[in-house]
Amino acid sequence: MPAAKYPKIVVTPPGPKARALLKEDESLISPSLVRFYPLAADSGQGCIVKDVDGNEFIDFNSGLVCLAVGHSHPKVVGAIKSQAEKLIHYSWTDFYYEKVVQLSKELVKITPGNFQKKVFLSNSGTEAIEAAMKLAKWHSRKHSFLSFTGAFHGRTLGALSLTASKPVQRRHFFPMVPGDTHVPFAYCYRCPFKMTYPECDMYCVDFIQEQVLDKYLPPEDVAAFFIEPIQGEGGYVVPPQEYFKRLRKLLDKNGILMVDDEVQAGMGRTGRWFGIEHWGVEPDVLCTSKALASGMPIGATVANSDLMDWEGGSHANTFGGNPVSCAAAIEVINAIRDEHLLENATKQGDYMVKRLKEMQEKYDIIGDVRGKGLMIGAEIVKDPKTKESGDNEAHEIMMKSFRRGLAMITAGHSTLRIAPPLIITRELVDSGLEILEGAVKEVAKSSK
Ligand code: PLP
Repeated sequence: MPAAKYPKIVVTPPGPKARALLKEDESLISPSLVRFYPLAADSGQGCIVKDVDGNEFIDFNSGLVCLAVGHSHPKVVGAIKSQAEKLIHYSWTDFYYEKVVQLSKELVKITPGNFQKKVFLSNSGTEAIEAAMKLAKWHSRKHSFLSFTGAFHGRTLGALSLTASKPVQRRHFFPMVPGDTHVPFAYCYRCPFKMTYPECDMYCVDFIQEQVLDKYLPPEDVAAFFIEPIQGEGGYVVPPQEYFKRLRKLLDKNGILMVDDEVQAGMGRTGRWFGIEHWGVEPDVLCTSKALASGMPIGATVANSDLMDWEGGSHANTFGGNPVSCAAAIEVINAIRDEHLLENATKQGDYMVKRLKEMQEKYDIIGDVRGKGLMIGAEIVKDPKTKESGDNEAHEIMMKSFRRGLAMITAGHSTLRIAPPLIITRELVDSGLEILEGAVKEVAKSSK
């Protein structure tokens, strides 16, 4: 078999140029950032990211799940260039842009729900969530929210109040926006109720009614429930097949809106345009960002038109709907359609899950493999029986993979987060998984 073309490691990372950059970065950049490892990205092409020392990594991160159509897709680059030459900015809040309308037309087409929709554009996932929070409050005139433990919805004080992923994200930032209640998510591998699916009969949904809404959170005060179809930062946690239909029923019964945070799971990541489609549920509001413009900053909040009824001046921003970002997003949507990337995400993703499950048979430290499309998690444990979290082991696997040319990070406590661009080929999948398996094998051996 010919040697795989990628990765190419010319010097063990971090090489000299990366080390020099890290030193300067440390003296200048906010210490609130926690970098996973010293990857100093210099350029990218397709599914390959090259560092400042010339090392070329297979990218299982997609730049934190943003580069849906890969690094520097020629059509996206072309759209950015020609729009930048024509018009970079003029403030969508006060004036009109053609690209805003063009992108919004596409967004209402690809988002679930066969009803009239309207769109609010912003610059990030967090802002898309903030817009949804304000919209839900404005429309319903209610002041409380529900969200899940393990959820990540962003870091500004509103979005942060919905987030419940890691204490460090909230420490010393109280009080946030008051009125959010967190309830347990359907994390079946580590059921918060210590039950087993399907015998549990989805008690986690009944719990919300019986122990929260019937006991201390009056449903008539709750504007919306914020969900992630697959928890991202929380550990790539996939709930059971009936879950969101059951939840939707509960919300409808209580007059609570469903806001679907597709910032990470959206734009084809799971093999459908939006993750929630796997559960056959139509949310009232959908937020997307990250992959929408494959690396250009943009966020979108798409809502049922009946619901997006707020008055002029109630919400706006300066850079939302930036024409360069919109032009990139339109080309991303075209590329996902034209290059059949939903199909590729499903095909490559199914293959990856199969390979990871085979590895799970061989190595005890892989406790659980789960995912849809190319949003795949492999949870590392010290012992499959006790399920004690393998934080150090997952870290070691990630670091060994990095040094050998596979850029992959973790989510939750100890879940390997596998999210390559949707254009990934079988050859690169195989090369990446070979590195991953080598690292798992060594860590499994040394942890015995
Ligand atoms: N929602 C989800 C599900 C996310 O994964 C993230 C970021 O990781 C956010 C919201 C926040 O997005 P941003 O970092 O663009 O503000």
